[in-house]
Amino acid sequence: MSRITRENGRMYCPTCGAIASGTHCGACGAVLERAPRSGWWRRVAATVVDNLLLLIPTTALLALLPSALGTLAALALQGAYQIVLLAGPRGQTVGNRLAGTRVRSISTDGPITVRQASWRWGIVVAYSALTLPNRPLLTALAGGIGLFDVLFPLANAERQTIHDRIAATVVVRV
Ligand SMILES: [Zn+2]
Repeated sequence: MSRITRENGRMYCPTCGAIASGTHCGACGAVLERAPRSGWWRRVAATVVDNLLLLIPTTALLALLPSALGTLAALALQGAYQIVLLAGPRGQTVGNRLAGTRVRSISTDGPITVRQASWRWGIVVAYSALTLPNRPLLTALAGGIGLFDVLFPLANAERQTIHDRIAATVVVRV
């Protein structure tokens, strides 16, 4: 497999020179080289590190501010952390750096946009928010969706979670 070439943000097929994206050249069908997808345990490790890192500031905000304001402030902090770092050129949170992974756009293999990072994070927030009313059924539903999302990479070749799939992102090895 020869290397895909990139110029001015476009990728060109190494075989026929056509503008290419995805896993196969649309013009000649050649298999295009892609960054190796991260394994499942690296993804889990990155998430655990990020959660541990955010635990103290999140707990402090929830303890110091009135409950609704504290929740909003904690959400803003976590959203800023995820979106600013993942939409940056490295595509890495602290957890990703330690785990040797980064988040990339599946169509370009390059950095993701703020919009993609927002979708990625927003999906997780949306199902996590089901725990807020403190109803056992909704909390169980949030847990079920969360588990499905986390396990989904084990069942597809691109190793994508549901939130990756919706945001058109992929987690790759550095
Ligand atoms: Zn081609």
